[in-house]
Amino acid sequence: MRAVIFKSPCIAVSKPKKQPEVNAQKCVGCGRCVNEIGCPAIALSGGKAVIDRTLCFGCGLCGQICRIGAIGTDG
Ligand code: SF4
Ligand code: SF4
Repeated sequence: MRAVIFKSPCIAVSKPKKQPEVNAQKCVGCGRCVNEIGCPAIALSGGKAVIDRTLCFGCGLCGQICRIGAIGTDG
């Protein structure tokens, strides 16, 4: 018999309280947040960054890497 013990809550069950949002009006589609982090939750779509909330665990790294402040917890 085997058991998996998680060190932190699974994002498939427990969503983080703060997930960033992309302000589509600010985003210029440079792709920096997609290419430099490698996070599976963020991608470019229609020339804008989009975040898949089902995969995002709220680390905030994408918000730090966007030079124009298009990603934040308040949009
Ligand atoms: S780094 Fe900022 S401006 Fe560039 S694609 Fe990501 S959100 Fe948009
Ligand atoms: S907050 Fe972290 S997990 Fe969520 S999209 Fe940004 S880099 Fe990915």
